Amino acid sequence: MDKQVNSLDSELRNRAKKVVPGGMWGHMNAAALPEGYPQFFARGSGSRLWDVDGNEFVDFMCSWGPIILGHHHPEVDEAAQKQLARGDCLNGPSESMVELAELLVEMLPHATWAQFQKNGSDAMTTAATISRAGTGRRKILVASGAYHGAVPWCSPSLLGVTAEDRAHIVQYEYNDVESLNRAADQARGDLAGIIASAFKHDYGRDQCLPTREFAKAARAAADAADAALIVDDVRAGFRLNLGGSWEAVGVRPDLSAWSKSIANGFALAAVTGNERFRDATSKLFTTGSFWCSAVSMAAAVATLTALRRDNAIEHMERLGGMLRDGLGSLSKTHGLPIRQTGPVQMPMVLFEDDPDNRKGFAFCSATVKRGIYFHPLHNMFLSAAHTTNDIERALDAAEHGFRAVRDSLTNSAGVSRN
Ligand SMILES: *Cc1c(COP(=O)(O)O)cnc(C)c1O
Repeated sequence: MDKQVNSLDSELRNRAKKVVPGGMWGHMNAAALPEGYPQFFARGSGSRLWDVDGNEFVDFMCSWGPIILGHHHPEVDEAAQKQLARGDCLNGPSESMVELAELLVEMLPHATWAQFQKNGSDAMTTAATISRAGTGRRKILVASGAYHGAVPWCSPSLLGVTAEDRAHIVQYEYNDVESLNRAADQARGDLAGIIASAFKHDYGRDQCLPTREFAKAARAAADAADAALIVDDVRAGFRLNLGGSWEAVGVRPDLSAWSKSIANGFALAAVTGNERFRDATSKLFTTGSFWCSAVSMAAAVATLTALRRDNAIEHMERLGGMLRDGLGSLSKTHGLPIRQTGPVQMPMVLFEDDPDNRKGFAFCSATVKRGIYFHPLHNMFLSAAHTTNDIERALDAAEHGFRAVRDSLTNSAGVSRN
């Protein structure tokens, strides 16, 4: 019965440990997840995912964001395969780059141009560099605890990072107008850009949408200094609003960064911008060997077209709402309070009074064994492929999850702690 032993997953983990430092790097290391989570996957289809041992999961992580239409979406895959048959990595971009840039400019009210990269870190670094190139200044405001990528100027880990890498980064608190203005004051005369996430989606913390007051203050502070307002829409992009996440608060950025869901899992990132930064961007030397890959761009055109046509956001909101309501009432029934924060289509679920995450881990360990892939500490993701049945299955599993939390509390109460 014990699938941890003799499973292909554990065999692959052992082999990987020998040839990949730590077995796996970064946030996808399954060792950081509750017991029962697989490290290796075999395939995905729609809202479902299969690990290498054939276990099936309803996927509420959507590859940590990219999968927005569902795994292996037929239209996106067809567009990608058609392009692959003609060529992917050529001596320059294909026609689809122009088509994609035109589509983004049409969809995003803030933008009159687009430029493409591979990863969200590339896009955020490029946006920061454009703000410096366009202003001739150095300081960049970043909210404390916000994630913008895993490169030295913004990585959450300081290992291998020098003080000089961060010399011109000034921190402020998200949604705190006073601290934002204080940071802008500190950078006075040298302010290049203000970076703000689409909403506050810090790891392991309650999520928070931007207030109108904060968004307007960020716009005003950038305008007063003739600096760039940069919205990091890498994670939330196209899940909250197809015109950009800050459309909801009536504020338009100068520059936006996109990646994760832009091509439904194909590797692509973008910076979009307005006229103020067109010239600086055209002069900047920025490039990557794979940034022009035609397959990803064809996939992005198909993805954005389908998102728009299918009212995908409405669907994700409806099912996300069902999940939130269901978890809320189970939590009440079991007398185990949880905090559900952020937009319903990017759910964050944290247990009250859980400083060491024991409850969250017990919950997820029980649900993953029933074929539901939740995350105890990171915001999760709905996709257009999730169905009412998926939510019902998730809530059935959650019933067991809450029971497991209760059991773990009873058990640990009887055991002396030291
Ligand atoms: C994931 C993420 C990034 C970095 O994107 P990568 O593709 O992982 O480099 C940047 N900003 C936000 C908000 C993200 O969620």
